[in-house]
Amino acid sequence: MYQGTNASSGIGIGTAVIVEEAELVIKREAVVDAEAEVKRFQDALEQTMKDTEALAADLATRVGEKEAEIMQGHLMLLMDPMLTGEIENTIKNEVICSEYAVEQVCTMYADVFAAMEDELMQQRATDMRDIKTRIQQVLMGVSSVDISALPAGSILVAKDLTPSMTAGINPAHVAGIVTELGGKTSHSAILARALEIPAVVAVKDFMSLVKNGDQVILDGSEGLVFVNPDEKTAAEYQEKRDCLLKEKKELEQYIGKPTVTSDGVSIELVANIGKPEDVEKVLQYDGEGVGLFRTEFLFMDRTAMPTEEEQFEAYKEVAEKLAGKPVIIRTLDIGGDKEIPYMGLKKDENPFLGYRAIRLCLDRKEDIYRPQLRALLRASAYGNIKIMIPMVTCIDELREAKALIAEIKAELDREGIEYNRDIQVGIMVETAAASLMADVFAKEADFFSIGTNDLTQYTMSVDRGNDKISYLYSTFNPAVLRSIKHIIACGREAGIMVGMCGEAASDPMMIPLLLAFGLNEFSMSASAILRARKLITGYSTSELQAVADKAMSFATAKEVEEYMKSFVG
Ligand code: PEP
Ligand code: MG
Repeated sequence: MYQGTNASSGIGIGTAVIVEEAELVIKREAVVDAEAEVKRFQDALEQTMKDTEALAADLATRVGEKEAEIMQGHLMLLMDPMLTGEIENTIKNEVICSEYAVEQVCTMYADVFAAMEDELMQQRATDMRDIKTRIQQVLMGVSSVDISALPAGSILVAKDLTPSMTAGINPAHVAGIVTELGGKTSHSAILARALEIPAVVAVKDFMSLVKNGDQVILDGSEGLVFVNPDEKTAAEYQEKRDCLLKEKKELEQYIGKPTVTSDGVSIELVANIGKPEDVEKVLQYDGEGVGLFRTEFLFMDRTAMPTEEEQFEAYKEVAEKLAGKPVIIRTLDIGGDKEIPYMGLKKDENPFLGYRAIRLCLDRKEDIYRPQLRALLRASAYGNIKIMIPMVTCIDELREAKALIAEIKAELDREGIEYNRDIQVGIMVETAAASLMADVFAKEADFFSIGTNDLTQYTMSVDRGNDKISYLYSTFNPAVLRSIKHIIACGREAGIMVGMCGEAASDPMMIPLLLAFGLNEFSMSASAILRARKLITGYSTSELQAVADKAMSFATAKEVEEYMKSFVG
């Protein structure tokens, strides 16, 4: 068994097909006619651009516009006059062949990008090497590996997949992908997820551990790979895969059904998203809206802050696509474990207790918060947008944010720009302080959304990412459960909606407790929605009261978990 990074979930079972690009041997050759050589380069460049455009168009129809943008990015590089000018100058000045000039210039840029810390720049290095090879292949008349022609049931194995190789994949034939290099956010991983192909990346030395024709099983959720597994393992994973596929099929019957408990309590079942394109999955899995749009993703993977206009377009797109369904957009939550290099933030001693989320936004109103709030208010004219403030600890933070919103509303009035005057402003309840003061917050916030990922961390004083102390990180700990119950009770008492957008909202063992406590809204990853609908519609909230009472009578997380496990079965 080999461990890698889980890049795209699901179980893949099939036969290894090793994909290796033929090593191109590039020599420094002198040419007689430099002008003719430049023309040869330009022709090859044109052909590469045509091929790339075709790939982009194919991706746009098969996968999605966003994925096609990766190829559009390659096109931009191919059209960059700085790059092509430098290659042409190298050919002319050194009177050398195009292949070598391309090698020299592209490698130089790729190395510069690769040396930068920013992940986006690292990706640029991969893109640059990818286009370099493709221009050289055209020049040398070598065709690249045709992944679209792989036989059904192939597990694609490669050192690293270039984005253009991944783009050519036919998901009907590729049962899984394993690579030696790459990361969760590499373009190939993003494409694998979009194509819903299970993938494990960064499996050390994997190319030397597998050969063509080997049987391979991969678990894309756990990041595990087995080569020629024993019968027991093979049977176990076959069963796991069959179960997953069967469950997926069965759950489809819940599409279009209302989320109502058996005693008639209506629940809002909504999704967590990070980018506008995630809305496609929300609609596919019949989400009733968005309960958490983590806007920090709009700020990541780039070299400068998104402008008010760019943010407006993104928020508007989500609001419009959800056509009147609620869309809760959380204002920027960076700091903690989420870093953004171009913002120039100093490393905090205690990042999770430091300069993060609303603290940072209120400190940087002019360059960060005002443009985001303006974009949100402007977009509110196009759908049912609600604003949510993260990591609130004191009522002053909510008041200050609301005062800024009021200021911007007056500004928009003066400018004659439309917005929703009654836009709701709620908070994430995810700190111990906000939980203890929930009755006070409930009077001034329009809604609550419980962020159990952080609430557990801040209640238990346990870093949510530290393996050594992860035994303390349990939402079933009675302290966390009491906090959740209290927050819901305070919100209900004040008549505001109380939702939950932390991971606990989709936990089958937690759902009965949350229903008994009176939670109104459950927000989770889109792919978890139908299973949650099935569970919720099967429960009666009144019958669950006794279960919740019993669960709350225990003193340890272990006892609660064991009890809930036996209840859920
Ligand atoms: C949470 O803390 O539960 C939450 C949903 O927010 P994040 O995971 O982005 O901190
Ligand atoms: Mg949080």
